[in-house]
Amino acid sequence: MSSEILRAKLLNLLLTDAVRKIDFVFGSFHVDFGGFMSVWSMVATGGIDVDVQPLSEKDAAGGYNYPTNKFLFPDEGFGTTPDQQSVLVHESVHAMRDVRYHGGSEPRATWAEDEAAAYVAGALFKLNAFPQARRSTYPLFAQAYEIAGAVKDKPGAVVSDNDAKAMIAIIATEPDYVKKGMTFWKRSFADGI
Ligand SMILES: [Zn+2]
Repeated sequence: MSSEILRAKLLNLLLTDAVRKIDFVFGSFHVDFGGFMSVWSMVATGGIDVDVQPLSEKDAAGGYNYPTNKFLFPDEGFGTTPDQQSVLVHESVHAMRDVRYHGGSEPRATWAEDEAAAYVAGALFKLNAFPQARRSTYPLFAQAYEIAGAVKDKPGAVVSDNDAKAMIAIIATEPDYVKKGMTFWKRSFADGI
């Protein structure tokens, strides 16, 4: 079901300085404020919906569904803690890829690259908004923080090839993703709005 409360929360978050300062290139993906603004516009005008929906994957905190163009969050109270806000940013990066998809123009884009960019953006958001917040030491997050630290406050910084490959390798071998049948070269799920 559509949620006005969550929609307002997401729209407000996308306009914060902590999001405005996110600007890096990961492989074929440039994550920047212009991209977040294109998501903002889609959400504001209803092209992308924000729904409350219990998530099927038990560990997932939130989701973006490419075919239906919907953000999915577990309840209306979601999006208040630093970690939850970081999830909103993560899912917004998936929405950004979807908004920017114009039919096969990104032939090399993969789901793993989308995930990697989303985790880096989430980490960067936390470094910008909550520099004192505790950082997860789980390998996937640790790598995301390392990359975020390297590109922080350097608009347009390109994530090094080695860092990008290391991050994608961690994601592509992450048990939860492997279990879902994800492979290294599976294409990005972006299919346009
Ligand atoms: Zn994701």
